Amino acid sequence: MRIRMVAAGAAGLVSLTLFGALALAGCGGQATARDGKDVLFQYSTLNALMAGVYEGQMTLAELEEHGQQGLGTINTLDGEMVLLDGTAYRVGFDGTVGKLAGDVLTPFAEVTDFSADITLPEDQPLSFDQLKAAIDAARTSANLPYAFRVDGTFASIKTRSVPAQTRPYRPLTEVLKGQSEFQFTNVQGTIVGFWLPAYMSGPNAAGYHMHFLTADRKGGGHVLDLQTANVTIKMDETSEWVSELPTSGDFRSTALSQEQYK
Ligand SMILES: [Zn+2]
Repeated sequence: MRIRMVAAGAAGLVSLTLFGALALAGCGGQATARDGKDVLFQYSTLNALMAGVYEGQMTLAELEEHGQQGLGTINTLDGEMVLLDGTAYRVGFDGTVGKLAGDVLTPFAEVTDFSADITLPEDQPLSFDQLKAAIDAARTSANLPYAFRVDGTFASIKTRSVPAQTRPYRPLTEVLKGQSEFQFTNVQGTIVGFWLPAYMSGPNAAGYHMHFLTADRKGGGHVLDLQTANVTIKMDETSEWVSELPTSGDFRSTALSQEQYK
């Protein structure tokens, strides 16, 4: 099953985009050029993952048909998943990184066909909050999802991963109490992330969600904190939000979490 929310239909792309630009100009906003592939695709929902739905039926090969950049996890919550330039990587609980095969299944992931609308060179050191503030300042709407990537050198970056689970599955907040954490210093790498509007909380995470991969592909994880040294931020506004939902397994009957994802 799919839910599709479309901010501007492809058929009316030119007129709607122009109308959007005119309408936004009048209220101080600024429309961003569409590249024709501005779809945020997600499989399942984050509140299902939080409730312990750790097995899905979508393969990574199917996921990658919807984009070459994104994040999520794999079945049994066996580590953090980073999709970068069309290659999916797993950052395991022990911190090791490996490429994931196309037949691996995911219980939750989000991807986009990334094409930067906005590029911000940031050669001054930024704290985690300052990095978020820089992306906030470049966003031209609080009501549209943004994908982004941050490439460069990080003075420090702290990440986490999660251990594979066995049934009966515990809620994600319980599992995260036993997460492993990794600290990198003076490391080159790439963050893939999303900033999502408040109304997407539940189906997904409102605000920021970032996963990291080192340039040598030997480390990474879900980002907890960082200090940049010299990075470039690229952002892609998306105008379609597509969700494919599991039709079998635990998703059908699990009471979804009411907690906010952090
Ligand atoms: Zn994450």
